[in-house]
Amino acid sequence: MSDRETADGVLGLVQAFVNTVDLQDGPEELTDPNTLRSWLVARRLIEPDAEAEETDLKHAIALREAIRGLIGRNSGGRVYPVDLATLNEAAARSRLRPRFGTDGRGRLEPDATGVIGALGRIVAAVYAAMADPEWRRLKLCGSSTCRWAFYDRSRNQSSRWCTMASCGNREKARRFRTSHRHEAAV
Ligand SMILES: [Zn+2]
Repeated sequence: MSDRETADGVLGLVQAFVNTVDLQDGPEELTDPNTLRSWLVARRLIEPDAEAEETDLKHAIALREAIRGLIGRNSGGRVYPVDLATLNEAAARSRLRPRFGTDGRGRLEPDATGVIGALGRIVAAVYAAMADPEWRRLKLCGSSTCRWAFYDRSRNQSSRWCTMASCGNREKARRFRTSHRHEAAV
């Protein structure tokens, strides 16, 4: 959806990765190892001649959902140990290490190559994004069936829905129905 807010830089990369699936209406962008590979090549996270296998796809989707869980904390949710374990595992598997560049800055880079290395670069992007206060503006839509990662541009960081027009109104309607069902049952 074009009216959903997007972020820039590492935050934008993290957001784009999490939003490779629209849980509410589809589509799923990462349908097979080849679409995963293309997604990573397009963002220069992987060598163009690298290969991707079925297990890579499984790792990528597990990592994506773990990052979604982590972002949920910015919308008042809690972080689950299973998501942290997935993130830590991806970091360890890709052998992330600090590297210092001629620009006088430090960053995490993976020793591993291929998809494992590329997923490490995404973990490094999460790590860098978290160090920035902007991180708290990356939130999950409050609709339990949507959970889209959106960038909250509101001044007091109070947005709850990816779009008010779709999820905000749908959720209000759902609550209205639920409360009226309850009244009818009493
Ligand atoms: Zn939504």
